[in-house]
Amino acid sequence: MHILKTDVLIVGAGGAGLRAAIEAARGGAAVLVVQKASGNATQMAGGLQAVAFGHADPRDNPEQHYADTMAAGCWLNNPKLVKVLVEEAPRRLLELEEMGVEFYKQDGKFQQLLAGGHTYRRNCIYKGSNTRQLMQVLKVKAAEAGAEFLKNTVVARIVLYGGHVAGALAVDALSGELRLLSCRSLILATGGGGGLYARRTTPPGIMGDGYALAYAAGAELIDMEFVQFMPTVLVYPPRLNGKPVNETIRGEGAYLLNSTGERFMARWDPRKMEVATRDVVARAIFSEIQAGRGTPHGGAYLDARHIPEAVLQKSLTHYHSLLKYGCNPAQNLLEVAPAAHFFCGGVRIDADGATSIPGLFAAGEVAGGVHGANRLGGNALSETQVFGARAGSAAARWARESGGEGNNKAGDETLREAGRQFLNDYTFRGSCFLDREGKGITQLQSLKNRLRRTVEASAGILRSEEGLRQGLAEIEACRGALADLRSGISRRALANAVELDHMLTTAEILLRAALQRRESRGAHFRQDYPELDDDRWRKNIVFAANLK
Ligand SMILES: Cc1cc2nc3c(=O)[nH]c(=O)nc-3n(C[C@H](O)[C@H](O)[C@H](O)COP(=O)(O)OP(=O)(O)OC[C@H]3O[C@@H](n4cnc5c(N)ncnc54)[C@H](O)[C@@H]3O)c2cc1C
Repeated sequence: MHILKTDVLIVGAGGAGLRAAIEAARGGAAVLVVQKASGNATQMAGGLQAVAFGHADPRDNPEQHYADTMAAGCWLNNPKLVKVLVEEAPRRLLELEEMGVEFYKQDGKFQQLLAGGHTYRRNCIYKGSNTRQLMQVLKVKAAEAGAEFLKNTVVARIVLYGGHVAGALAVDALSGELRLLSCRSLILATGGGGGLYARRTTPPGIMGDGYALAYAAGAELIDMEFVQFMPTVLVYPPRLNGKPVNETIRGEGAYLLNSTGERFMARWDPRKMEVATRDVVARAIFSEIQAGRGTPHGGAYLDARHIPEAVLQKSLTHYHSLLKYGCNPAQNLLEVAPAAHFFCGGVRIDADGATSIPGLFAAGEVAGGVHGANRLGGNALSETQVFGARAGSAAARWARESGGEGNNKAGDETLREAGRQFLNDYTFRGSCFLDREGKGITQLQSLKNRLRRTVEASAGILRSEEGLRQGLAEIEACRGALADLRSGISRRALANAVELDHMLTTAEILLRAALQRRESRGAHFRQDYPELDDDRWRKNIVFAANLK
């Protein structure tokens, strides 16, 4: 088996992975970035990045940004990581500007919008109100710095040698061929797990692989029960179903109505109303729909008709698409409902993105600790840049100074043996290239969807012991079905099987964490324990394979 060698292996080419690649390559390391084919969350982002420049409101500063982030996270956040985030966010955004990324500015100052939970207008806006140019610039800069890319490839396992990272096993998504990747350090930048849910804002391929990879390698996962739901995701027009409406439009005065015309947020948070944190607004909308006060297409109304068109154009995501599909936000009510959006927890890291496994780093949404129980709008993009850059430079340093536990003869043999063992779990039917149908692909897809429905029903906005236990039983059943399929799929289905395996691991950890937390806090709401319980639960839940 041929081995591909690099110094720093980066899994994921979203905002965090690319920022890490730039820094690692500039630090003198050979860098290989591996990615799936199915897109990333960064390229879909609404283009808001929280940075306390204080341009829109001179009272703002990093200390207030810190206080808001900790309060939103219900004090489960790692204070050191939050401090790094708020203090470095300005520098990282200015670096992006230097690289050529454009933001909306006036008289040399950043224009900034208010998002739920922020005390001041703090969110800088990418020009065009999307992140397309961010992704273009990061890709160009990473390639210019010397990073190489391997596309359409699913990383299946992290391989350790002597307790250190030695490399990874990856599967070509089309042919099912196994690739052995040897490295001195590895950065997980695989994004979140929105793809575990049926209704979500994220691309389907972002389905929690990184958590499962880290867990199997023995790293720690923290705060996995906290999944944030974007409250206002379009349910109509059909072509825009699933597209999020960013919350800054509520900051500009848009409000929510149920089918009786009631502005129901007054019952949920009379002080903050529509700019309450995402968890409160999501729960409010979901409860209105469940109580039969939803709109014809199963949402709540978002009324932005009173907002000047110039403001709508700049601060309402999908404004032009809405017009194209016959819905003018200046004249029509929008119909919105919550959808799974962001995994607040993840792989436990220190301020340099290092995990508990020597040589293994994590950055971006896959990492945990920054957001605690809930995330503020705009903090995720800042996180990708701040911790992506830090992990990139720390991983390059590790590769330089550790001598590299992988990349030697014994490491190579460990990789080959891991590859053999991995393939032994499967019996393949049909040849690699000739089996056009890809035996097993349809069954694997339908199992993925079954799992998504299960996670949605049991670990959605409202949770309970009974629902979570049912969900865990269903996960076991899906696991059994996957085991059966392993004995008769084609090579072309292998990447799909790997993804499902990862989904099952991550889903189980999420449900177990949610079951364990017998209180309601931030994005986690238990119907059977609806109160916050600071005495017993102001603490983090950590999962690690070796702590079992
Ligand atoms: C619709 C939408 C709008 C948003 N808007 C905002 C916003 O305005 N402001 C904000 O702060 N945040 C926003 N967010 C959140 C934010 O965009 C994400 O949290 C952030 O971009 C995640 O970046 P990332 O680099 O960690 O992961 P991603 O950008 O998701 O990239 C993950 C990468 O990992 C790869 N990958 C995953 N698994 C594997 C595997 N097994 N093998 C190989 N590669 C793998 C994928 O192919 C992809 O390249 C939004 C999210 C969504 C979905």
